Amino acid sequence: MAILVLGGAGYIGSHTVYELIDYGEQVVIVDNLETGHIEAVHPKAKFYQGDIRNRAFMDRVFEENKIDAVIHFAANSLVGESMTNPLKYYDNNLCGTKVLLESMVAHRIDKIVFSSTAATYGEPENIPILETDKTNPTNCYGETKLSMEKMFKWTGKAHGLRYVSLRYFNACGAHESGQIGEAHAPETHLIPLILQVPNGIRESITIFGDDYPTPDGTCIRDYIHVTDLAMAHIQAVQYLRAGNTSNIFNLGNGVGFSVKEVIETARAVTGHPIPAVIEGRRAGDPARLIASSEKARQVLGWNPQHDDLSKIIASAWKWHKGHPDGFAK
Ligand code: UDP
Repeated sequence: MAILVLGGAGYIGSHTVYELIDYGEQVVIVDNLETGHIEAVHPKAKFYQGDIRNRAFMDRVFEENKIDAVIHFAANSLVGESMTNPLKYYDNNLCGTKVLLESMVAHRIDKIVFSSTAATYGEPENIPILETDKTNPTNCYGETKLSMEKMFKWTGKAHGLRYVSLRYFNACGAHESGQIGEAHAPETHLIPLILQVPNGIRESITIFGDDYPTPDGTCIRDYIHVTDLAMAHIQAVQYLRAGNTSNIFNLGNGVGFSVKEVIETARAVTGHPIPAVIEGRRAGDPARLIASSEKARQVLGWNPQHDDLSKIIASAWKWHKGHPDGFAK
């Protein structure tokens, strides 16, 4: 039996595939390569290029392979873009998941691990954020991910499908080999953008807002290493295989760093002065997001290994230094 990884050529998807294969699992990948990279596809995985919105294609994948569980990363995931082009997010994230679920139900595939986000909470009521806290997304990306979670819930009730939704905080870092890492075009995420400065690609980093109600005025986020996220997916599949009920888990380190602190740490790691320029706030950004991941630790036995921001940034730097243009030749 194989695990089907949708979006397995993307950032978190490719790192999860690497861990699954190290773990001895058989892996089938589906990716439309719209934002994923063929170079990030693990050579031992079976690869299909195609789109989850294509029902006939998804049916063929389920018919040609013995699939035990699905891990679903295939979605658009940029906060800023979701605010300017919301219908793109409804189309890919929600319509894609609807087609996927129809095909899963038809083929009696009953386990799915889903890539969700801290953006489902919106402006948090409490810090650290618990899974039971109110969900009220402040951007369309978070709204579509929350709707996807609800689609799993109701489909599960009707058709016996079980799901684990993993609400990631800020994914960062790269595989220890330095062979795969974060590569978005255009890049919008803080750490890769900061590292473009010592890589000679940009002259400075822009800070989006220094008037937030935080100690230094910049947004605080919980940065979690991509390999730790990958491990949680393996544990979530095991949890479902063991017959457990559907569940939702936060994944973060439980520690917050401001944008200014991240830049300062990157200066120390790279030895580059990394000039910073303050600009206005970015639409849809909550001031502070920090996870409580106690539930994932208790229930899944998740134990993140990378809790030091310098080491996380050093792992990202190893990848970006060796691949300044991402996967481009
Ligand atoms: N950010 C920034 N400058 C940038 C990119 C991001 O100040 O060039 C800030 C952004 O406003 C947020 C934090 O860095 O507060 C993390 O943003 P990112 O896009 O990496 O992740 P998100 O929190 O949106 O998932």
